[in-house]
Formats: sequence, C-alpha cells, structure tokens
Amino acid sequence: MQYHSTRGGVTGYSFEAAVMEGLAPDGGLFIPSHIPSLPADWTTAWAELTFQELAVQIFRLFIDEAEIPTPDLEALVRKSYETFRTPEVAPVRPLGDPCQQRWILELFHGPTFAFKDVALQFLGNVFEYFLERRNQQDTSRRHFLTVVGATSGDTGSAAIYGLRNKKNIQAFILHPQGRVSPIQEAQMTTVLDPNIHNLAVQGTFDDCQAIVKALFGNPTFRKRYHLGAINSINWARILAQTVYYFYSYFSLRRQLRAQGQILPDSVVYTVPSGNFGDVLAGYYARQLGLPVRRLVVATNANDILYRFFTTGRYEKSTVVEADGTSVKATYSPAMDILISSNFERLLWYLAQDHVATGTSGTERANQAGQIVKKWMDEFQSTGRLAVNEAALQAVREIFDTAAVSDADTLSTINQYYYTQSADKSYLLDPHTAVGVKAADRVTQRSPQTYANVPNICLSTAHPAKFSEAVSKALHVPQNETNSQVASFDFDQVLPPEFVNLLEKPRRCLNIQPGTVENIQATIVKTLGSTNL
Ligand SMILES: *Cc1c(COP(=O)(O)O)cnc(C)c1O
Repeated sequence: MQYHSTRGGVTGYSFEAAVMEGLAPDGGLFIPSHIPSLPADWTTAWAELTFQELAVQIFRLFIDEAEIPTPDLEALVRKSYETFRTPEVAPVRPLGDPCQQRWILELFHGPTFAFKDVALQFLGNVFEYFLERRNQQDTSRRHFLTVVGATSGDTGSAAIYGLRNKKNIQAFILHPQGRVSPIQEAQMTTVLDPNIHNLAVQGTFDDCQAIVKALFGNPTFRKRYHLGAINSINWARILAQTVYYFYSYFSLRRQLRAQGQILPDSVVYTVPSGNFGDVLAGYYARQLGLPVRRLVVATNANDILYRFFTTGRYEKSTVVEADGTSVKATYSPAMDILISSNFERLLWYLAQDHVATGTSGTERANQAGQIVKKWMDEFQSTGRLAVNEAALQAVREIFDTAAVSDADTLSTINQYYYTQSADKSYLLDPHTAVGVKAADRVTQRSPQTYANVPNICLSTAHPAKFSEAVSKALHVPQNETNSQVASFDFDQVLPPEFVNLLEKPRRCLNIQPGTVENIQATIVKTLGSTNL
C-alpha cells in the first residue's frame, strides 16, 4: 500500500514515511492510494476475533508485510492494547430502553480515559518501532524524534501516555499555565518519565499553538531536532480507529444473537465530532465494506461540520466570543474547534466524483488533488468553500448530522442517569451525551432511515473526566458529591486512577514569559542534557 497527498503533489509514500512525516510536504494529508478489498469471507472469518486480532487483520490491509512483518505487527498491537483496563478494549453495552436499539461503544478504557488512547497508544509504539529499526540499519547518525505539541488540556494527556518511556523520542507538550482543569493538569504533569516534558506557558492556548507553529516554521530548528507532530491528522490514528467500528459491529451481532434476535443488515454509528478524525475512521470502515447505513456527525455549538452536512458550505465561524477567538466554550471541550483538521480527507473523496469518468489511477488522484487544492486555497483566503448540490446529496446518503446545545447535553446526561429502572441507568460523559442527543434528533427527523436499525453511539470519554458538567447535569453540587442526591455518588464512578491524583508528585516547567525564544531555548537545553 502506498500513500499520496490530498493535494495531488505527493505520491508513492510508504506507510512508514506517511506516519513519520505526518503532514505531506505540499500541505495536504496522506491518504491510501486505494481502498483495499476485505477477504471474501470476512463476515464469518472475522466474527469471533478479539479486538487485537481484528486490528492485525485490518492494519495488514494498509501496511505492507515488507514494512512491518506480521509477527512485529502482532507485537505492536499487543503492546498497544495491554495498557487498557478491559480485555475487550472497546466493549459495547446496551443503552436505555431495548426497543430504541441504542448501544454505547465504550472507547474510554485506555490510560487517560478518552477515545484518543485507542490511536495514540498504537502511534507511540509505531514511532518507536520505526526509529529503532532506523538506528539498527543506519548507524551513521542517531535517529530520533522531538515531538512538540500544544494542548488546551483534553488531548495532551493522551499524547503523553502514548509517548511516555518510548526510546529515541522526547516530547514537549505545551499547555496554558493555570488555564487547564486541575484534573487535566494532574493527568499530564504526574507522568514522570524522563522523556516527557510538560511546559506550562504563560498565555492562552492560542499562544501555545502559535509557538508550536513558529517552531515548525523554523526549518533549521525543525531539521536539526527532527520535530514531529502527534496531532489528529496522522494517518496511523485514523487507521487505528477503524478497528472499533468493525469490532463493535461483530460484538453487537454476538449480543443480539445471544438474545435470539435477528442480525441487522446495517447499523448506524453516531460520533461526537470535532476534528473529524473519529467519524472519518467510520467512513473508511464503510468504504471497506462494513454495512453502515449512516454516520451521524454530532457537534456541539461549534458546528462547522453540522453546517457543512446541512448546506454543503464549509464556513469558518466569524462570531467573536468573549476570549477574542471564534471558538465557543462548551461542556464538551474536546469538540470545541473552529475548523476540522481531518475534513480535507473527505473532500478528496468528494473531489474524485468531479473527475471525468474514465480517468484512472494516478491521473485521477492528481486531478482530485488539484480540486482539493483549489478548495483549500479558497478556504484559506476567504474562510469558506462550497461543494455542489450533487456532491451534497451524495454525501448525505452516508452522513447525517445534528448540533446539540449545552442545555440539551446536560438534560441528556440527566435523562439516562435517572431512569425508571436502576439497572438501565447509564452515566454519559458530556461528549457522549452530545452524540446520544444527536441520535435522538436524526431518528425523530427521519424515522424511515433510523427506525429498527441499531444505533451505536461512540462514547469518547469517561464521565469522571468531566465531573463538573456531570455534577451540574445531575444537580449535584461539586465537592459535595453525595449530599443532595442520594442515588448519585461520584466516588462510585471514580476510577481508582483518579483517586489521589491531585496529590501525586509532578514534573512541569513554568515558562515565563511564554515566547518562542524561551520555549526554543528550553527545548535545546533539555535535549542537550539528555543523551540523544
Ligand atoms: C477528540 C475528542 C472528540 C472529537 O473527536 P474528533 O476526532 O476530533 O472528531 C470527542 N470527544 C472526546 C472526549 C475527545 O477527546
């Protein structure tokens, strides 16, 4: 399998090159040169596989044997998912009234209690694997990676846990000092591995991002220290996420069969979305042949995706919020985005439909790439792009969408927790609640599409991670978790890993003032004192 850029300029990349580079040199994102075929008997041959076995089968389709031999791939997968707290890795559970056919795919059993672990545990191991091999094969210099990233708090810990203790990798994760929640700060800074460097930067998240961008924009620095990114556009992350779509499909089939029920022809997936990485993996699963009736893109008030799938126009919001940016702060902060960094990959597939029929192979890829480039240039200069009516109709056969307010997010958490029968009670995190509410909306809007079709809602975070919103939803005062409402006790849902987290030893460098020069000097000094 080879990879090419969504912008047409770059082709013939190996999996290794696509993953190690992250972003294509022409500014586009890497996508596979074709959609591979599943084995003819996949619906039976894969039906009873464990999550790890299924991962190996799917990864094998996208990574040539010559790049990672199967025994190595198996070892990488085993290592990546042994950090999960449940052997199932991604269990599927029923939600609410069985006649609703709602299911929850729990993706939060990894080390940081959020779905990004599924991909980042794998990515960290893949980075380490390729670097070690390069060092074995070429001893003329030391092959290493300096990962530099910025976080507003939610995603930094998943990156840190993916990279901790990895050989030949040093990671510098910037967060705005005093502007991340105490739990988030503790999750990041209590990781004491010597290769992890938390930098608390005086400034805002935007300042942190601008600094990272400036460092990557400095070619000498970038090259000398082999800067690498771990953001959501890395192809390996999308690939890793396709596995749980297949796994949950089989898991649902097993559970329905055990109840003597008919297996569904197709299923719906509802995905709380921000950067469009999670749901894009579902799109690849569908292209591979998984019988997906619809992918429901659920957004919060930061609704650029909702507006696109409704109107065909992808338009940056220009409403200025209190903090001076156009991002709205919501109860589902991991989805608070202005633009969706993975959306360009979908655009490439839409552009393909604009290329004259009969054009084939590389030429087709190039022409689609030219269209995407034109769209992205337009978006860059005007903050908007639009696809035509035919493309919108085609995309709506696959995707549906709903945008969910903060008020509806909280009422949904409340509704599923305080149920009629206690055994059906389920505690949703705010991101997952956005998804569940979106599933309700689309079902009401188009019953003919959704009635009697199982709807698997992806649960992207553990509720304890967002205790403030959850407490508010359940009318429980913060820090007095069991006083008012007898039936809710936060301690019961609090994972042992969170207990005493705030008291654990920490390692973090305060950078004042938060300037590019200061950060750069800190990185150089820190790397100088490690034996790279
Ligand atoms: C990152 C994240 C999302 C959004 O996923 P995208 O791939 O960016 O669409 C949703 N929920 C949680 C908890 C997340 O961390």
